[in-house]
Amino acid sequence: MERAGLRRSLRRVEHRRGAEAVVDGRAAVDFSSNDYLGLASDPRIAEAAARALRDAGTGAAAARLISGNHPLHDELERELARFKRAPAALLFASGYAANTGAIPALVGRGDAVYSDALNHASLIDGCRLSRAALRVFPHGDVGALEAMLRADAGLFRRRLIVADSVFSMDGALFPLDALAEVARRHGAWTYVDDAHGTGVLGDGGRGAVERWGVEGRIDVVMGTLGKALGTAGAFVAGSATLCEWLMNRARPFVFTTASPPALAAASLAALGIAREEPWRRERLRTNARRLRAGLDALGRPAPGEADGHIVPVLTGGAEATVRAGRLLLERGFLVGAVRPPTVPPGTSRLRLTLSAAHTPEQVDGLLAALAEVLPSPSTPSPR
Ligand code: PMP
Repeated sequence: MERAGLRRSLRRVEHRRGAEAVVDGRAAVDFSSNDYLGLASDPRIAEAAARALRDAGTGAAAARLISGNHPLHDELERELARFKRAPAALLFASGYAANTGAIPALVGRGDAVYSDALNHASLIDGCRLSRAALRVFPHGDVGALEAMLRADAGLFRRRLIVADSVFSMDGALFPLDALAEVARRHGAWTYVDDAHGTGVLGDGGRGAVERWGVEGRIDVVMGTLGKALGTAGAFVAGSATLCEWLMNRARPFVFTTASPPALAAASLAALGIAREEPWRRERLRTNARRLRAGLDALGRPAPGEADGHIVPVLTGGAEATVRAGRLLLERGFLVGAVRPPTVPPGTSRLRLTLSAAHTPEQVDGLLAALAEVLPSPSTPSPR
């Protein structure tokens, strides 16, 4: 791993305040987090958690189905369902737990899952755990997906299409309107991982289903609380039957200790802020447009929407990517240096993410540092 530039280690990030943090002892502006709305260090959310900690204690003490269910869990599920305009929602300890739990609870032997080639690792693991036949379709290619569904007609009992709404490593959006239509034509269920859309996409921040106008037309919507909402955990939103089924059958729900009620209190506060402060989404999009326009000017246009909040800068080999990341940190900017296995070999990249907490000056500062650090686009990057 070391020789291939793939050995990883942890760095220490402390004193986070908005987009600023101290990284291994050095002050840096963070362009690598998923704290898209700048809520992770919001004192109002911390205060809500602190109040609940004093009242409910640190631990839920048992699984939800045993004796760990607290009214704050129920309240958060009701609010999440309302937010997603779905009949019901069910909490999971993390997005990883939700995807690896919900997919195997919905399909199994004799069924098929259709999975986008760039789906998140947790979706891939959920598909594998399910033991359903696995069909991988080319990234974002609804036409290819439909051809597979047609070719498989009559072969399987149930069919589930699984996709990220916003691909975490390249920021691309999956066209959910086309997805809902294709699924309807072929009698397949749809499962969308809205980890990077929840709180961000749509005027109300209700996520990809709002952005694409398909509320109520995606069977299973998974969202996370640890990204735009600034807390931790995840949920599945959908029909009441779906949520009750998952409550009984999704093993990471059934066999795990309930998350601390204080975390639910924090998430409730975060949800309220995400709904009531739409300026955060505006500022996030303005920052994204500024960074993307600056990259265009550097001759390194980033793929994706003009206001997409995840901005990939392809750097080629893993070592070049890690080096660029290190040089940026020396200049006071923390960015994601993403390499295999997170992305396919040869597509290592800097993953720049924006936040409502960034100032225009910080975005300009990052652009100036990128101009120094990136090899010029005309010189082929060493592999
Ligand atoms: N899905 C996607 C698309 C993600 O990016 C992530 C987090 N990296 C997850 C699921 C997992 O969510 P969590 O961090 O809550 O486990």
